[in-house]
Amino acid sequence: MNPEKLRKDFPILERKFNKKKLVYLDNAATTQKPKQVIEAEKRFYEESNANVHRGLNFLSLEATEQYEAAHNKTAKFINAGGIEEIVFTKNATESLNLLAFSLGERLSKGDEIVLTKMEHHANLVPWQQLAKRGKVKLKFAGITEDGRLDLSDLESKISGKTKIISVTMASNILGTINPVEKVSGIAEKAGALFVVDAAQAVPHTKTDVKKMNADFIAFSAHKMLGPTGIGVLYGKEELLEGMEPFLTGGDMISSVTFEKSEWNRLPWKFEAGTPNIAGAIGFGAAIDYVSKIDIENIEAHEQKLLKLGMERLSEIKGVRLYGPVKGPRTGMISFNVGGVHPHDVAEILGESAIAIRAGNHCAQPLMNEMGIEGVARASFYLYNTAEEIGLLAEAVEKTKKVFGV
Ligand code: PMP
Repeated sequence: MNPEKLRKDFPILERKFNKKKLVYLDNAATTQKPKQVIEAEKRFYEESNANVHRGLNFLSLEATEQYEAAHNKTAKFINAGGIEEIVFTKNATESLNLLAFSLGERLSKGDEIVLTKMEHHANLVPWQQLAKRGKVKLKFAGITEDGRLDLSDLESKISGKTKIISVTMASNILGTINPVEKVSGIAEKAGALFVVDAAQAVPHTKTDVKKMNADFIAFSAHKMLGPTGIGVLYGKEELLEGMEPFLTGGDMISSVTFEKSEWNRLPWKFEAGTPNIAGAIGFGAAIDYVSKIDIENIEAHEQKLLKLGMERLSEIKGVRLYGPVKGPRTGMISFNVGGVHPHDVAEILGESAIAIRAGNHCAQPLMNEMGIEGVARASFYLYNTAEEIGLLAEAVEKTKKVFGV
């Protein structure tokens, strides 16, 4: 894998800010798009644009074929059984809302859902809303000192009433990759459904839904080179089959009378209305792009950058790094610089055209748990280079000077 060569596929990486080349280190928020993805969307609009699953005109058939092919590519990418198990949504957040709604329908008063203390708001607020409607109780598994999921604490939160366990596969702050296969064993033993928020995992590490025995996983295309506005809900066919739809209306039905409706077959039952057709096709191109490089090569590259980044930043006095020192984690580093507010760190880095994210990163409860207001976060992907890590370290040194810490 040659990141310098790959960079040429990403037009935005040519942009300059303050006469300096863009150093994009905010990949956990969203990744940049290669021209193969941009062109796939453009080609769809220029050559094949029509609505899907509507009227059997030849153009609609062509659009439908491409749209369904994107489902197939997604299924293959995560080793799902087939297209029936792949629901396209707007993003991971919508996928998790769908679950909280549709699974919530089947829960009884007093049932319990176990989450962790390292969840993104997307895998917390929808379940909170469900709890607010008075049905269920939420419990939270703790994390260890070094930022790992505390499995024994998780097990202690399980009771005869536990119906769902929903866990992030990779933390968007700590980078921790959680042992989802172990958690799925715990869920199975408890007779609970196992939901995985895989938004920060699928783009960075091999994700095999069969191997991890997840009942459902949620992720977004835009964090793995794909367009915004397209996300995925994977669900085991027999489970999706038994669930009520979240959104209703056109396209998701098989028959409608004034009195009642019957649902379409999977996955269309969960895809009401005109979907993001171009986005799905662009996502298909992103999957092709990532598959060609091979996710394992991407992971190895990120690990090199992670190691280098940890080394360089930990050499700087006053810089505090977060997340596990040992064990699996994705290519991201959350840090603080002395007493400097993370927003100020991001601003000074911005003067060097380095884009990072700063703040609470949609994980306020975790920040509270860690006793901090926020962190600066540098997150890497396949086009980042060792040279950029050097620039990051230099800019952090500069931040210290500016603030006299
Ligand atoms: N879960 C995690 C762990 C995330 O990092 C994010 C995005 N920051 C999400 C869920 C939500 O993704 P989206 O905003 O694309 O719905």
